[in-house]
Amino acid sequence: MSAPVLVFLERSAEGEIDELSEQALSLARELGEPPDAVLIGETDAPPSAATLQTLGAYGVATAHVAAHPAFGAYAPAAWAQAIVELAERLSAAAVIAAGSERGNELLAHVAARTGQPMATNCVAITPGAPTEVTRVRWGGSLLEHARLHGAPLLATVAPHAVAATPAPAPADTAVAPFAPEIADADLVVSVIERVPAATGGVSLADADVVVSGGRGVGSAEGFSVIEELAELLGGAVGCSRAVTSAGWRPHTDQVGQTGTKIAPEIYIACGVSGATQHMAGCKGAKKLLAINPDGEASIFASADYGVIGDLHQVVPAISAELRKARAT
Ligand SMILES: Cc1cc2nc3c(=O)[nH]c(=O)nc-3n(C[C@H](O)[C@H](O)[C@H](O)COP(=O)(O)OP(=O)(O)OC[C@H]3O[C@@H](n4cnc5c(N)ncnc54)[C@H](O)[C@@H]3O)c2cc1C
Repeated sequence: MSAPVLVFLERSAEGEIDELSEQALSLARELGEPPDAVLIGETDAPPSAATLQTLGAYGVATAHVAAHPAFGAYAPAAWAQAIVELAERLSAAAVIAAGSERGNELLAHVAARTGQPMATNCVAITPGAPTEVTRVRWGGSLLEHARLHGAPLLATVAPHAVAATPAPAPADTAVAPFAPEIADADLVVSVIERVPAATGGVSLADADVVVSGGRGVGSAEGFSVIEELAELLGGAVGCSRAVTSAGWRPHTDQVGQTGTKIAPEIYIACGVSGATQHMAGCKGAKKLLAINPDGEASIFASADYGVIGDLHQVVPAISAELRKARAT
C-alpha cells in the first residue's frame, strides 16, 4: 500500500501506548509502508519523549495528534469524526485499531460514517482489491477467511493474537497536530465519570497473575479463598459468566468472549469448566492451572497443570504453603 495506513492508538492515563495498540501497529506494518498513528487528546501538546520513543520503536512515520477541548473525555462519534477527517485528508489506504471494546466501537462509527465495511478481530491482512483478511470468529473456535471490498480498509486486530514486535529499524517519528471539525451532535455521547473497579489495584486486563472462580466456587462468599490466593500472588480476581449471571461478582471481573481478554503469565482457573466462550478470554495466558474435581472437564484439555480436586480444599492449601514459604 503506498497511501498511508492509519493506526488509532489507545493510551493509558499516564499517556503510555497500550499493548493492544502495539500489536495493532505490528500487524499494520505488514501492510507495506511505515504506518502513521492517530492520537486523540484535549490539546495538541506533542506526545511525551517516552511515547515518541515507543512510536519510533514501532516504526511510526507520523503521529497525527487530533486535538479538541472536548477530547479530554471519550466521545465515540466525535473521535470517529476526527479519524474520518484525517483519513479523507490523507487519502488513507487503511484505518486499523486494536480489537478492544474502544477500538471496535470507534471503527464501527468510522464504518457507519464512511459507508464502508469493517472487519473485526483480524489476525492477518493481505492488501489488494479486494483485501483478504483472516479473522477470529466464534470466541476463537474458528478462523474465517474473508474478502473485504471497499476503501479505506477498516479493520481491528484480535487481542493477543499478534505479537507486539518493534520494527527492525526504529523510525524518526514526526508529529502533526490537527484540529478536527466537531459538531455539537458528535458530542451527545461522552464519558462523564469514571469509577475505578475495586480490584485491589491490579487491573484484570494487565495482571501477571489471574485467579479465577467459576460456578464451582458455589457462592459469592466462596470467593474469599480466590481473593486470598490472588492477593498472595499480587494478582487479580477473575470469574466466569456463570458467576456474573448469578450476581456473585461484577461483570468487570468476567473473563471471556463477552468479558475481559487477559494475557497473564499464569491463569489459575478454579471451578471453571472451560466453555469455548470462557477460553476465548484467557487463551493469551502463558500458563494455565486448572482446579476441578471433574477430570473430564474440558478445561484440562487446555491446561498446562491440573489438580483434580475440590477448590475449597486445594486453593486454601496453596495459600497456606505460600504463607509458610514466605515465613521462612
Ligand atoms: C454468547 C455467549 C457468550 C458467553 N460469554 C462468556 C464469557 O465471556 N465468559 C464466560 O465465562 N462464559 C461465557 N459464556 C457462558 C459459557 O458458555 C459457560 O456457560 C460458562 O463459561 C460456564 O461457566 P463455569 O465454567 O463457571 O460453569 P460450569 O460450566 O457450570 O462449570 C462449573 C465447573 O465447576 C466444577 N466444580 C464444581 N464444584 C467444584 C469444586 N468444589 N471445586 C472445583 N471445581 C468444581 C464443575 O466440575 C464444573 O466443571 C457465554 C455464552 C454465550 C452463549
